Parts: sequence; C-alpha cells; structure tokens
Amino acid sequence: MHVDETATYYTATKKYFLNFPQLEQDIDADVVIIGGGFSGIHTALELAEQGVKNIVVLEARYLGFGGSGRNGGQVMAGIGHDLDNIKHEVGEEGLKTIFELSELGPQIMRERIQKYNIDADFTNGYTYLGFNSRQARTLKSWEKQFKTMNNRDEIYYLEGKDVQKVIGSEVYGSALVHMGGGHVHSLNLLLGEAKACSEIYGVKIFEHTPAVEIKYGKKVTVRTAKGCITANKMVWACDSFLNKLEPELHKTTINTYAFQLMTEPLSDELINKISPIRGAYSDIRPVIDYYRVTKENRLLFGAATPLVDYVPQDLKEWNRQLMLKVFPYLEHVKIDLAWGGPMASTKNLFPQIGTLKDHGNVFFVQGYCGFGVTPSQIICKILAQGILGGSEHFKLLSSVSKPEIPFKDSMRATMCTLGKVLHQIKGYGQGRR
Ligand SMILES: Cc1cc2nc3c(=O)[nH]c(=O)nc-3n(C[C@H](O)[C@H](O)[C@H](O)COP(=O)(O)OP(=O)(O)OC[C@H]3O[C@@H](n4cnc5c(N)ncnc54)[C@H](O)[C@@H]3O)c2cc1C
Repeated sequence: MHVDETATYYTATKKYFLNFPQLEQDIDADVVIIGGGFSGIHTALELAEQGVKNIVVLEARYLGFGGSGRNGGQVMAGIGHDLDNIKHEVGEEGLKTIFELSELGPQIMRERIQKYNIDADFTNGYTYLGFNSRQARTLKSWEKQFKTMNNRDEIYYLEGKDVQKVIGSEVYGSALVHMGGGHVHSLNLLLGEAKACSEIYGVKIFEHTPAVEIKYGKKVTVRTAKGCITANKMVWACDSFLNKLEPELHKTTINTYAFQLMTEPLSDELINKISPIRGAYSDIRPVIDYYRVTKENRLLFGAATPLVDYVPQDLKEWNRQLMLKVFPYLEHVKIDLAWGGPMASTKNLFPQIGTLKDHGNVFFVQGYCGFGVTPSQIICKILAQGILGGSEHFKLLSSVSKPEIPFKDSMRATMCTLGKVLHQIKGYGQGRR
C-alpha cells in the first residue's frame, strides 16, 4: 500500500545518522523491548535513567519507521481522545489524576531535549481552533480546564477578528492558544533519545532485526533471524505494526490511517501570514485538520478521512484540497511530498498499557489512536514504573479495560467507518462539531 512509503519531511531533514547493527548472536538481557518508535525508545531511556543496566531494543526496520517517524509533530495536551469513555471505570478521582498526568507530556519532552541536548526544533505554541459558536463554547470551557491544571504556561482565548493574530485563515471564529504545547521534529527527537540510550547508558539497539517468535516463561526468549535474546522481562511496543505476532494484543486495536503533505519552502512573508506565532494548530472536530510550520519555512498539513475509512489515491492532491479550504491563498504553492501511515486505535480511544494476562513479566504499550507524540512521554514513564515493580499510576492506567474489536481482520474498513461515524455523533454532543 502506498502509504507505507517512508519518504517524509522527517527522513529528508534528519540530523542523526546512527545506523545500529543487526543482531547476529545470542545474548541475555534484563529487559528486551520490541519496537523502535517512541514507545520503545522512551521506555528504554526511562528504564536506563532509573538504573536498569542491560536493556535491548529490537527494531524490525529502522528507528522511526512507524508512526514515530511519520507524524505531524504536534505537541498537544492530553491523553486519549474522549476521557468520558473511561470515566465509569476510573471514577472522578482517577479521571482527575489522568488529567493531571496528561499535562506532563510536553514538560517531559522539553526536559529530555535539554538534558540530552537533542536537536529537535521544539517550538512552543499550540492553537486549538473552532469554526462555530458551539466549538467556541467548548474552547472557553477548555480554557478553564487547562488553566486549573497548568499555571506555568500562557493560555488564552481569542474570538472574532482577533483569531487572525495567531492564524492566517478566515475560516475560524475562535481560538485557544496554549503556549506549553507546540511542535517538534519527531524523528530527530526519537533519534536523539536513542543516541542518549546507546552512548550514555549502553542500551543495545538492533535495527533490521524483527522479532519472529517469542517463548514466554520465567525468562522470555525472543528469536530473530540470526540470534536470540533471553530476558527477565519483555515489552511489546509495536503499535500498528504488530502484525498479529501477539494475538492478545492484536485483538484490542484496529489500524486506521492519517495523511500528511509538505509544501515547498515558503517566503518569510507567507510563513508570517500563515502562522504569526510559528506554531502548531488543529481544529477540534472529532477528526481534525492539523498543521504547523517548520524551521525550513514549509507548511506540514495533515488530516484523516472524517467518516468513511479509505486511503486516498493521490495523497498530495487530497491533502492539498483540505489545505486550500483553510488557506486559499496557497493555491500556487508546490507540494513537495505527501505520506501517511497506520495508527493503532482502541475501542475506548484510550491507549493501552499493562501486562499479558498469563505473563506478568511481559508488558505492552499500544493504541494511541493517532495521538502519541506527547502522551507516549508520560505513558512510557508510567510503563517503566510498572516494569520496575509497580506504582499507583501504573495500576490506574493499566486498569482501563481493553475491549476486543470484533471483525477487525475480516471487515477492517467497515469497522473503522462505523467507529468514525459514532465518534462524529458523540463529538456533536460534546460541542466539537
Ligand atoms: C501520518 C500520521 C500522523 C500523526 N500525527 C500525529 C501528531 O501530529 N501528533 C501526535 O500526537 N500523534 C500523531 N500520530 C500518532 C503517533 O505518531 C503514534 O501514536 C506514535 O508514534 C506511536 O509510537 P509507537 O512507538 O508506539 O509506534 P511506532 O512508531 O509505529 O513504532 C512501532 C515500531 O515497531 C516496529 N516493529 C513492529 N513489529 C516488530 C517486530 N516483530 N520486531 C521488531 N520491531 C517491530 C515497527 O517497525 C515500528 O518501527 C500520527 C501518526 C501518523 C501515522
């Protein structure tokens, strides 16, 4: 499928050329992590920072091959898409804790960038945008919520003509600016963290080394083409690329797709018009348009299909038409690249962490539902607490149910379409449409 092509803005502008070897021998590990995206690398880094000595990460292709190297780089507050879905399971107190945790993602990211001197173009400034009066009311209520949880960052609401102080588009009537969010060069962030893992903490990372068979037990054995790893603990971090390797995890997520374009480099004047704050943006509909400017003066614009799940034939043109609805004056701008990728989504739209039912030493993290860049930072910190013996936060997050998704293999597109339709209807009730 052509969305698996991985020529992206990120691969074209990456600053770290690490090239980790293929595994070619049998080795022992304390913890073996399968998957070299944000989930795998954040978890490895967190464990290493906590003093775990012998960590191995296996990546089937190359670091950032999955969603972590293809996303919009949008850094926004929150975990999951609709916490109402899990309120009955975690209660008011649990929900409050999750709200508080979800504010920590951008902070952890900024601290890591600083600590390890990572060249990842982190830029502050995230704006949530509303088209109509219902969405304006929602943004005002979010403003209150954000401010009760965060008194560090500047957060302000705009409406009417004032919206154009932060975005060069006439289609929006309201805006909520959160200066604690922003955008980041995801691949450079990932590779910068991987470099720290390897060079500072001695984490052993292997690329082009798919795990092909796992034997669970007191010790876990992971077989690859040319070598085995025997470890005390294991972590599944494959998200949408799990490919049925672990049936218990496979049945609780379904892959849906998001797409992105990258314009040619634009003049300073045009960039200042599009984004006077050089920030990142999304509207607040159940399926959003999301976009941002880059350090090289390009616009990255992304979206997903709102109702019917399908992969557009011409990704450049499909995305361009959506971009022109927001910025009609970009009609003559050239589109240099377009790409896309799968995202593992869960039934309750909340990411999943925990241990396998019958194997307490086998951990997993998956199912960010297209919202993983920031949440993965906090979720993997909590996952690491679980691996290191447990914590209240691990107990809380792993307690959220992980319902099976019926017919996901035989009727994927139909099930995703159904999910999207329901999500849109619910979004109306929540003032997001
Ligand atoms: C087009 C697109 C745009 C997005 N935009 C945003 C955004 O702007 N903001 C946001 O918050 N989120 C966004 N997301 C979602 C976000 O990118 C993901 O949630 C996040 O990157 C998932 O990270 P991960 O490490 O769990 O999975 P991945 O990054 O997908 O990594 C999983 C890795 O596991 C490896 N793997 C699989 N099987 C094996 C095996 N058997 N052995 C070894 N390795 C294996 C894969 O090769 C892959 O590299 C977007 C996603 C896409 C696709």
